[in-house]
Amino acid sequence: MPEKKETSNEQSSEVVHRLTTAKLSSYPPHDRWDDWVEFDAKSWPKKVERRYSLVPTTCFNCEAACGLLAYVDQDTGEIQKLEGNPLHPASRGRNCAKGPATINQIHDPERILFPLKRIGPRGEGQWERTTWDEVLDTFALKIRTALIENRRDEVVYHVGRPGHDGYIDRVLQAWGVDGHNSHTNICSSGARVGYALWQGADRPSPDYANAGFILLLSSHLETGHYFNPHAQRIIEGKMAGAKLAVIDPRLSNTASAANYWLSPWPGTEAALLLAMASVIIQEDSFDREFVRRWVNWEEFMQAERPALPCSFEAFIEALKEIYSEFTPEYAANECGVDAEKIVEVAREIARAGSRFASHVWRSAASGNLGGWQVARALYFLNALTGSIGTEGGVSPNVWNKFVAAPFSKPAPQKVWNETLWPREYPLAHHEMSFLLPHLLKDGRGHLAAYFTRVYNPVWTNPDGMSWVEVLRDESKIELHAALTPVWSETAWFADYVLPMGLGAERHDIMSQETHSAQWISFRQPVQRVLRERRGEHIDFTYEANPGEVWEEDEFWIELSWRIDPTGELGVRRHFESPYRAGKKVTINEYYRWIFENSVPGLPEKAKKAGLSPLEFMRRNGAFAVKTNIYEQHESKLPDTELEGTRVDEKARIVKPTADGEQMIGVMIDGQSLRGFNTPSRKLEFYSKTMVEWKWPEHTLPAYVRSHVNWRDLDQANGDYILVPTFRLPTLIHTRSGNAKWLYEISHTNPLWVNTKDAAKLGFKTGDLARVSTEIGYFVVRVWATEGIRPGVVACSHHLGRWRLKNDQGTDRWASALVDLDELGDGRWRLRQIEGVKPFKSDDPDSERIFWQEGGVHQNLTFPVHPDPVSGMHCWHQRVRVERAQPDDKYGDVVVDTKASHEVYRKWLEMTRPAPGPGGLRRPLWFSRPVRPDDEAYRVND
Ligand code: SF4
Repeated sequence: MPEKKETSNEQSSEVVHRLTTAKLSSYPPHDRWDDWVEFDAKSWPKKVERRYSLVPTTCFNCEAACGLLAYVDQDTGEIQKLEGNPLHPASRGRNCAKGPATINQIHDPERILFPLKRIGPRGEGQWERTTWDEVLDTFALKIRTALIENRRDEVVYHVGRPGHDGYIDRVLQAWGVDGHNSHTNICSSGARVGYALWQGADRPSPDYANAGFILLLSSHLETGHYFNPHAQRIIEGKMAGAKLAVIDPRLSNTASAANYWLSPWPGTEAALLLAMASVIIQEDSFDREFVRRWVNWEEFMQAERPALPCSFEAFIEALKEIYSEFTPEYAANECGVDAEKIVEVAREIARAGSRFASHVWRSAASGNLGGWQVARALYFLNALTGSIGTEGGVSPNVWNKFVAAPFSKPAPQKVWNETLWPREYPLAHHEMSFLLPHLLKDGRGHLAAYFTRVYNPVWTNPDGMSWVEVLRDESKIELHAALTPVWSETAWFADYVLPMGLGAERHDIMSQETHSAQWISFRQPVQRVLRERRGEHIDFTYEANPGEVWEEDEFWIELSWRIDPTGELGVRRHFESPYRAGKKVTINEYYRWIFENSVPGLPEKAKKAGLSPLEFMRRNGAFAVKTNIYEQHESKLPDTELEGTRVDEKARIVKPTADGEQMIGVMIDGQSLRGFNTPSRKLEFYSKTMVEWKWPEHTLPAYVRSHVNWRDLDQANGDYILVPTFRLPTLIHTRSGNAKWLYEISHTNPLWVNTKDAAKLGFKTGDLARVSTEIGYFVVRVWATEGIRPGVVACSHHLGRWRLKNDQGTDRWASALVDLDELGDGRWRLRQIEGVKPFKSDDPDSERIFWQEGGVHQNLTFPVHPDPVSGMHCWHQRVRVERAQPDDKYGDVVVDTKASHEVYRKWLEMTRPAPGPGGLRRPLWFSRPVRPDDEAYRVND
């Protein structure tokens, strides 16, 4: 396989230098944001002035939460464009293409502007306009009845793009339901489990800008998590001399900018990483002092080597012996990567030492059975090099994310929802959301009220036709509202389609671990802010938004108030104003309280500027809470915290609490230190939790053979590994469908086939291929390229949108018009009637559409593959690739949902269900979204 030779970097460094060090002098100075003058570009060469009011907000098109600046034309009152907010600590005025494309979404002529209610059978596409009052009253009654009848597992909120930190958690806990469902198990649960086992925090926060060597199992320079802020800092690191290695079977844009591109067989990445670890261990180039102090080696020795002395030297000998099998030659054979290159990269990592930064988020961790061990193997390299918590290394995400507390926090719910957290998956990092259709089909539950919120499971999840079958079944889901800024395939099967605000039409607070700092970013409804600044009184954001587009924050306040109008259910009090006793909280009061009380340093900074904290955030859009956060684990516990504590036999500092005991630190070399959020308060190389929860073979970082291991392929007969997990840099899952600029840039998802394989199969670029999975097939065009490992094919999951009616269902910028036929006995066929084509609308650009094929919806053909440990859907597929048959048409999808249910059952058999120790459903130390009361963790049959 081709691996990129280490380049001199010289020719690219000059360009990079120019791009990254140029002063961002063209940003309007902050003191002129109220009245900013620019020449109108379209009037050139005439110099026509346009005056703008600039209002900061936060991008809503991915979770990075970059700052945006809305330019509101003072004459028309319209938002003219959105650019970067230079005051934002993470994005620093820069955005990816998706940020400025928010303007397309605002002005999309296909936009849903009013709440819609279905008037025919579900899924038949007959809608009428309704009122928000009707929507709120209908859901309030349904939810109130469920609460009174104590059916607190029948109200479910299912989120795709959260875009806020904790708002909905508070709402659901105020209702007392266990109803939070997320998309995370089709996204990142695999990596999260790997990281959580090591450090008790489920994400890494790499300090790329200060790194000496960066290893990515992701495409962070174009699409990875928090990618724009991260990409900026990776380039800064490179500018300062860091080298970059990328492990990816596909030549991503990131790999093309790397010093090393390693292209292993998909699913063998953990073996590759463990071989690097083995080189570092066998060559004694690890950081002995860090490992001695911070890795839980004593626990390992006592549990797994009880006959040996519990000494650090004996541990090192054991480590050498355990990983001796992962020689570079073994890895070369297993992974298909040159052994010398593995040694070279391992030595680079060791040389970088505490300045080694790494990241895996989706990629191999979300593609493979056992993918969570990929993250564990990667972080092993950080543990060995002592690069955890250091400048230029990686920190636990919780150090670099700041979540501000609201004015009232309800008590945790006392109920456990088994349709979201089934017993088979006690260690799943998030809800088993993608199994919901199968669990409902198995009769394990029933939903009274279901909200899909900025989420499109029919299209985004695997096995979308099983979703269609369940969504249209009113005996399984009584009432379904799709809260969405845009039409979607899922909204089509809802009872209500409720238009929600875009990034410039709503409030939220966000914070992400983008670098060694903590910050918050404020999303705000631009038109409302300006009108209030002019002295207008506005009760609800929808009054200032287009049509009747609401913001969710106000929707949940109104709904909660109507669920419990008298306060008898204990819900209402959480929605009463902290400033006006007994009155309903307004959205301005909600955020005012947070900024006045929950963000350290903000009131003082605001005071200096002569503003209230709320007005400061309205004017600046973001605030840096803390900078340069390193080595938190080494911080000494203050005497005040040590009062009343004791040190247990494992050197942990234990504090008695009302509910039992809490570990608050660890004794290291005679000092009481904070440590990590694990049971041992150290980095857990050895996981006792895995033994206790019936996975004794997984106590250590290890290699798990994937469900798509290359040795199992019948390569002679057209078997390939399909990598379907990668994004296109300019698209968002569902919500770029209404962004014309983004579709103009990217509008097709061909099948990447190596040129050697293309020759073997008789393909040239543009030919149609039929790709068959366990439950069906899809028909796609081939792209013959050197940029993919032979034996592997790849297809981006970002395209293939469809609609069932010409002018409704999914935006016409992005979707094909299709027939969806039920062929009987669980078999479905989706066939394109016509692709994307120009259409008439208020936007003349809609008649200039030149792209014709909107892509292929491959996810429909994937059965669910829930990893038995992490719960992550294992996306990679073993497929048969062949020439399309005479009747096949581009975009065809044929699937069998009965077959997919059988695959679900097969994977279910791999699980080792709860209860675990103490009759628990899940380890108490594992985090859980919207965590219930400890009492709910116990199985009470
Ligand atoms: S990376 Fe792009 S899409 Fe994501 S928040 Fe930043 S500007 Fe928006």
